[in-house]
Amino acid sequence: MKTHNCTCCGKEIELYERYPNRICSDCYELPKYDLEGRRVEFSNDSELEPLFGSFAVHFLDEKDEIVETIMDKYKEYQFTINNRLFRAKEARFGGVVIESI
Ligand SMILES: [Zn+2]
Repeated sequence: MKTHNCTCCGKEIELYERYPNRICSDCYELPKYDLEGRRVEFSNDSELEPLFGSFAVHFLDEKDEIVETIMDKYKEYQFTINNRLFRAKEARFGGVVIESI
């Protein structure tokens, strides 16, 4: 198995050739803030739109409740984890991939 180091915490994880800068699943769970300081999470519900995907950005309040969802507007979305810049985008075969920029 080829590996690379998570671009957020440095942990060794499996290398996906298509996403050489992706972060690990632990970092994926960390709080994310967009460039305006809002809590954000992402989802990609390809089951609803199998041909087109549907990349969604969710904005959360301080209780982790979703207060707003924007579907299909963004191809990718920039945000920070621990003040480092990342981007989320729809993964080719479903789900969401997060990469360092
Ligand atoms: Zn990590």
